[in-house]
Amino acid sequence: MSLTDLIYAGSNAVAGLTEGAVDDAIAKYGADHAVGYPDTAYFLPIIYAATGVKIKTLGDLPAAVGILKSLITNKEDLGEALNAGLATAVGAEIIEAIRYLDGDPYANDSGIGFVADPIIRSLGVPLVTGDIPGIAVLLGESSDPASLAAIVKDYQEKGLLTFMVGNIIEQALEAGVKMGLDYRVIPLGHEVTSVIHVVSVAIRAALIFGGIEPGKLPEFLAYTKERVPAFVNTFGELNEVIVAVGAGAIALGFPVIADVEVPEVPGALMTQADHAKTVEFSLESREIKIKVTKIDVPVSVASAFEGERVRKDTMFAEFGGNKTECWELVTTGELAEMEDHKITLIGPDIDDVMFADKDVVRLPLGIVVTVAGKAMQKDFETVLERRIHYFTNYIEGAMHVGQRNIAWIRLTKEAFEKGFRLKHIGEVLYAKMRADFDKVVDKCEVTIYTNEADVARLGEEMVKPIYAERDERMGALTDESVDEFYTCLLCQSFAPSHVCIVTPERLGLCGAVSWLDAKATKELDPTGPNQPIVKGTAVDERLGIWDSCNEVVARDSQGAVERVTLYSILEDPMTSCGCFECICGIMPEANGVIIVNREFSQTSPVGMTFGELASMTGGGVQTPGFMGHGRFLIGSKKFMSAEGGLSRIVWMPKELKDDVAERLNKAVFEMTGVENFADMVCDETIATDSEAVLEFLESKGHPALDMDPIM
Ligand code: SF4
Ligand code: ZN
Repeated sequence: MSLTDLIYAGSNAVAGLTEGAVDDAIAKYGADHAVGYPDTAYFLPIIYAATGVKIKTLGDLPAAVGILKSLITNKEDLGEALNAGLATAVGAEIIEAIRYLDGDPYANDSGIGFVADPIIRSLGVPLVTGDIPGIAVLLGESSDPASLAAIVKDYQEKGLLTFMVGNIIEQALEAGVKMGLDYRVIPLGHEVTSVIHVVSVAIRAALIFGGIEPGKLPEFLAYTKERVPAFVNTFGELNEVIVAVGAGAIALGFPVIADVEVPEVPGALMTQADHAKTVEFSLESREIKIKVTKIDVPVSVASAFEGERVRKDTMFAEFGGNKTECWELVTTGELAEMEDHKITLIGPDIDDVMFADKDVVRLPLGIVVTVAGKAMQKDFETVLERRIHYFTNYIEGAMHVGQRNIAWIRLTKEAFEKGFRLKHIGEVLYAKMRADFDKVVDKCEVTIYTNEADVARLGEEMVKPIYAERDERMGALTDESVDEFYTCLLCQSFAPSHVCIVTPERLGLCGAVSWLDAKATKELDPTGPNQPIVKGTAVDERLGIWDSCNEVVARDSQGAVERVTLYSILEDPMTSCGCFECICGIMPEANGVIIVNREFSQTSPVGMTFGELASMTGGGVQTPGFMGHGRFLIGSKKFMSAEGGLSRIVWMPKELKDDVAERLNKAVFEMTGVENFADMVCDETIATDSEAVLEFLESKGHPALDMDPIM
């Protein structure tokens, strides 16, 4: 059979299955029965993107099946056959949606099935920073599980996000591959149709970040081809359905690399039978470049391990976490006096005999990273220090929580057994500081203290005064006190017209880029994503309008946005790209705003979930009344200060409220004299329906109720 014949055979088969499944579902549930995926604002996302049609009930499906069938022309032409591949994608999306009618079909599967909107949004920053350099989709059943597992681990160590479909999931699990979102290896499901959930991720990236209008299929295909760095590896013999699915992937611009003989289409469908070459071949097919830092430690160090948790039963050693004192510090030393790559442990290590009969090794810990370099600035110390959290988390078998003197580190038994010791933390910090901050760090030393007396004494005498001095400097750092703001254009790789303006009191909406971070990045990468805006005089201080900002935004958004205010949610608010930590929206009846964070999955008092609220904005478009922002902005005196500021906040999820309470209370008190403001803010444990929220606000005398009408 020719390639096109195979594609048509597969797509016709899937079309038949789809039609049958729709008929059966309508017969069983009725045409009015709702159909859809959990936690998405985009209906059946592929159909919505391709046609603009919002499928809501089973009765909407037969028309979609009609469109699907019209795409399968059976003409001997590769372009036409790729359309049949898209039809297969639509069919799979419908079949999978129908499987969700009886509850979560993945409840007893090792796969996760549909990927919710908030997860996709959380992937925005690592993808734009190159922290996740690409997306691998693996499908099938391998004749050689060991080499399959080696491929998955290789992708993992290179930081790729890997999606798996079919029996390769069990094969890789049995070979010891760690799986889950936290490990960047995501099992989707056993049925071949579950591959649609990764196609759905790519398509929703175009909706969420790209702001592409539903119905404009060619624009979606161009977006996925140019901006979503994905490819497909198939394992084992290909049947016609897999070939048809592969044609769909090719239509999206994702090359397919098979490990068996296939009729090759250069750049689109290729064979690489040697598993030892699969990774390199695949990365080259998509021109994905990997930056590796070789670090001499006995475990893997990769960003893919960042989310790994160390639980009690796998834990070998623990530092901090209210059990012992644990702090970390980056400080600047004298270049001439330092010895690069000097790593010192002062005190016992985790294999010391004194722990021989202990279940868990607990030690106090103090980490001092001393850096020096001609371009190093004192202000960058906090930027580097914050990276200790990420660098330590990259270690396979280590977990790092918190920062400064509330740091908390755990190490696994597995890491210990592989030979991991405390000096290796020093090795990792050294190597990453040198690699990631090469322009400012010429020399780096790491000293690790584990004697209780040292940790206590240095913590009091050296560390705390430095923190206090920094806090004072940071507190004095306001939008008024600096001459320059910074742009951040990192997200333009996904949201081409989005520009963040980062100021001392307004960090990037992803929460990952503060004004100091932007300043340091400018130093590290002079032509990079963060460029200074020389502020000049404000046109309107209340709204936060500067000619300089307008000019830069107009230029960097290629004219898509011409005017922006920094302090208003209603008048020309800053755009959102899609990866914001929180979304803020107006609750008119409460004369205030609610804030929902990405992790919160329930419905908010305005009747929408985070995902639904988030879909109201994004893609670099200005949407008055909605604003994506970082967690840290809640506590900034510039938070929508044009509309009354922090006192307008009437509702937040409890976890978020507790997280920000201290800064929020302090800021509101300083601005209005109101004490314990966080207690006046409603949360889901108190109320989520509008009336009850209002009752609560009234009982607390919430200040928003007496403010000028917000709208
Ligand atoms: Fe994206 Fe803005 Fe964060 Fe930069 S600051 S990474 S543009 S969200
Ligand atoms: Zn973004």
